Amino acid sequence: MSTAISPEIAAHVLAHFGHGGYEAGSFTRHLLSAMDTADPANLARLGEAFPAYAAAVVGIKYDPEGVAFLQRLASGGITCANCEGGDGPFVTVGTSPLCEPCHQGRQ
Ligand SMILES: [Zn+2]
Repeated sequence: MSTAISPEIAAHVLAHFGHGGYEAGSFTRHLLSAMDTADPANLARLGEAFPAYAAAVVGIKYDPEGVAFLQRLASGGITCANCEGGDGPFVTVGTSPLCEPCHQGRQ
């Protein structure tokens, strides 16, 4: 399962984990704290309600390339591997990110 992550969400998650970005509002900061401390079962539950945030948290915690990917995403440094658009949100598909419209078009 892959979920599109917007540059804004990437920046919020980076800030929570101390890798740059910028702080989210109060609710989102609490949400990220909950996701950061959740076990996998509870993180999956939170992810049903907030899929993009959960995908970004999982990426930054468990994917060795997660920080670099989110930093590129937050800075607008990612372009779609199909249409080369830079607007996002982007879905991680291996090393070839796709924008959400292209990703849906390929399904
Ligand atoms: Zn595209």
